[in-house]
Amino acid sequence: MKYVSTRGGIEPLEFQDAVMMGLADDGGLIVPRDIPNVSDCLDDWANMSYPQLAFEVIRLFATDIPDEDLRDLVDRSYIGVFDSDPEVAPITPVGDRFVMELWHGPTMSFKDVALQLLGNLFEYILAARGGKLNILAATSGDTGSAAICGVRGRKGINIFVMHPSGRVSPIQERQMTSVLDDNVHNIAIDGSFDDCQRIMKTLAGDLEFKRTHSLGAVNSVNWARVLAQMVYYFRGVFELRRLTGCDSIRVSVPTGNFGDILAGWYAMQMGAPISQLVLATNDNDILSRFFNSGGYSLGEVHHTPAPAMDIQVASNFERYLYHKVGEDPDRLRTLMEQFARTGSLEIECDSPGAVDLSIEAGSASTDDILAAIRTCWESNGYVIDPHTACGYSVVGVMAPVGAAGPDDSEPTLCIATAHPAKFPGAIERATGEDLAHHPEIDALGDLPTRCEEIGNDPQAVADFIVRTIS
Ligand SMILES: *Cc1c(COP(=O)(O)O)cnc(C)c1O
Repeated sequence: MKYVSTRGGIEPLEFQDAVMMGLADDGGLIVPRDIPNVSDCLDDWANMSYPQLAFEVIRLFATDIPDEDLRDLVDRSYIGVFDSDPEVAPITPVGDRFVMELWHGPTMSFKDVALQLLGNLFEYILAARGGKLNILAATSGDTGSAAICGVRGRKGINIFVMHPSGRVSPIQERQMTSVLDDNVHNIAIDGSFDDCQRIMKTLAGDLEFKRTHSLGAVNSVNWARVLAQMVYYFRGVFELRRLTGCDSIRVSVPTGNFGDILAGWYAMQMGAPISQLVLATNDNDILSRFFNSGGYSLGEVHHTPAPAMDIQVASNFERYLYHKVGEDPDRLRTLMEQFARTGSLEIECDSPGAVDLSIEAGSASTDDILAAIRTCWESNGYVIDPHTACGYSVVGVMAPVGAAGPDDSEPTLCIATAHPAKFPGAIERATGEDLAHHPEIDALGDLPTRCEEIGNDPQAVADFIVRTIS
């Protein structure tokens, strides 16, 4: 499998080079040149364990890693790592829906599913090639701790994680800053998540700096993140077929940087029988406005109870747009340049009010989020976190129980992206009860922490990196 850039400015790459490059050197995103069709494999895959399935999906894209090595990488990422072991993505019926709990990993968000694998991949590639890697990451809350957990203590790797100062939950902050390994460096940026992501892209776009300091990426600009996440969409299809007998499902996905849902979209292109993806945002609704109108235009960042989705510029959107405009890098570049200049871009809808018939989109206000947490708890005795609640709320508005429609017979899978104990304040605000606990999270309060405060300035971050690694 070869990889190219959405902006057309790099030579085709193999998988391992794509993983190490992170952001494409021409400022675009790395995408696979072909999307394999796996319709003929689905019956074989349906009864596999999660690690077996992950191996089958990933090997189609990681063709430069020998099967034996890949099997070992996948096993080390998914066996004995999730507290739901041997299952990685268990599904629970909740009312008339199904919830896929992707928060059983070590940092209790779905980000662990991809970042456990990515940590192992980096180590594998560096062991063969030698050299060092300095990872620069931007986090809206959960990527940071999951990435840190994936690479802490690993030889040859340093990680620098920028989070927006005071804008991640206190628990998310402690999950990052209480990791004191020598190779882990937390940075609190005086700005928003979008500012952190801009600094990351600025430094990764400075090719001289990127090469000199072997800069790598763990954000979902890194193709391996999206790839690892495709696996659980296939898993969801197979499990729901077992549980309901239905051959096709609808999946609701809370969305910030468009990484998770993009993995679902790729799975659909590969032949996974998903009839529709439901894209759910919070008040930061740039993506839901886009899918309902074709217009992608920047707004102000709103702070919501679902902070990991308090994002305006969704980096993976560029990958989707590339496919949407016929994989034409010139057209894509024109659109992205226009967006950079004016803060908006527009494309034509497939039909009035729908950019893509396979993606239905909506947003959940803060009241909607709290109401969804409360309703789900009161009706089902099941606590969802505020991000999961966005998907739960939006899909509820779209298909009220008993509505007649073509989707009615299809089971709905809601992707649960974090353990509710990461957001106890929102759970208490919604339900009036102190329901959200996890022993590891409760223990965080007592741990010592380390973090560097830096202004909203790429140069200041670059200086800190150079100072730290020299
Ligand atoms: C990162 C995150 C999201 C958003 O995922 P994207 O891939 O950025 O769309 C949703 N919920 C939680 C809990 C997250 O950490």
